[in-house]
Amino acid sequence: MKASELQNLDIAIVGGGYGGAAAAVALSRIGADVHVYEQATEIREVGAGIGLRPPTLELFRTWGIFDEMAAVSSPSDCMEILTATGELIVREEWPGIHEYAQENKTRLIHRGDFVDTFLKLIPEDRIHLGHRMTSVEDKGDRATVTFANGTEVSADLVIGADGIRSLVRNQLFSDKPPVFSGSQAFRAVISADDAYGMVKDDNFRLYVGDNGAMVYFLPLRHRNQVSFDITALSNDDTWAPEVTGDYISGLLDGFDERLQAIARNLDMAAVTSRGVYDIDPIDQWHSDSVVLVGDAAHSMLHHQGQGANQAIQDAGGLADALVAADSVKDALVRFQAERMPVAHKLQRISRQQPDISGSVETAFPETTSL
Ligand SMILES: Cc1cc2nc3c(=O)[nH]c(=O)nc-3n(C[C@H](O)[C@H](O)[C@H](O)COP(=O)(O)OP(=O)(O)OC[C@H]3O[C@@H](n4cnc5c(N)ncnc54)[C@H](O)[C@@H]3O)c2cc1C
Repeated sequence: MKASELQNLDIAIVGGGYGGAAAAVALSRIGADVHVYEQATEIREVGAGIGLRPPTLELFRTWGIFDEMAAVSSPSDCMEILTATGELIVREEWPGIHEYAQENKTRLIHRGDFVDTFLKLIPEDRIHLGHRMTSVEDKGDRATVTFANGTEVSADLVIGADGIRSLVRNQLFSDKPPVFSGSQAFRAVISADDAYGMVKDDNFRLYVGDNGAMVYFLPLRHRNQVSFDITALSNDDTWAPEVTGDYISGLLDGFDERLQAIARNLDMAAVTSRGVYDIDPIDQWHSDSVVLVGDAAHSMLHHQGQGANQAIQDAGGLADALVAADSVKDALVRFQAERMPVAHKLQRISRQQPDISGSVETAFPETTSL
């Protein structure tokens, strides 16, 4: 689309998580008039740590915001998979670090810092907190969104970036519910001072127990913290299970004593507990004027650490498609054709849990699996 057409394009984004915040920046950069509608009433420090992968960082360079992200993240060389007691099974450099004009190490970041940094890059009057979407309607050339507070908004393009339980997906593209994985995740961000000396570098470590429990240990050294995540098998499919500290620490029986001590000492008020879900791949992400991005389109399990990265890649893909296409309608077709095969592959691979019973060839099966 021509620059003048893009400047006249008004876009409403539902959801201000990784996907929504990244889309807001990517689409503002190409000149569109972007508004973000987020149900939360404030930008809070919710969530935990993730690794932003080299291709994602390359996008930030092209968007001219690498330095802003670097200021709130730590560079990481490697991922390690270890046994529960800490014997190294595989250490591997993050794929893609050297594939760009400049080295792009994976960067470890807290979700709160990501959202805060991104949303500060667009004008404050474009961010609408306390807006919980209740319905969306595609009217052909435009789409209309209604919010619980009574506001109604009409835009040339509505982006559903409203996460795994997306209402946009549910109302327009698929009413199939998320799929339970048979596991639960318990996440907390703790001080590195309470991690018994285990935060010694910026490698991301995954400890895998014989009982199916795993510890994701992700240092956030720029904050003197570590993101500590226990994922364990369970038949309880409650969305936000209520568990005790004893239950959580019991999951790490047989693990490195320091990991057990960290689990024992967790402040349960600061632990996020959730049933782990993804969605089955869906084959339509867009209508003429509404499109899904991120978990709304392709929620995947966290075993490959790709969900947020793919949400951000969607933002870049959508911006590129709008620039290349003749119309919004054409852009959405291009966007889906480009992004869907990648996302479907990762949804499939992410359902594989790390198996350490045999030899582990790679920490990154997405680089080898079809
Ligand atoms: C335990 C765990 C570990 C993970 N580790 C990693 C990792 O290392 N690397 C990685 O890349 N990914 C990881 N992920 C996945 C990652 O968190 C998700 O893929 C990512 O959050 C998806 O971003 P999103 O913006 O699509 O959705 P979300 O982050 O869920 O954001 C959706 C936003 O929409 C808002 N919203 C929802 N409904 C409405 C509504 N009706 N109206 C208005 N607003 C609404 C929500 O409040 C929220 O702010 C992990 C996930 C889990 C559970």
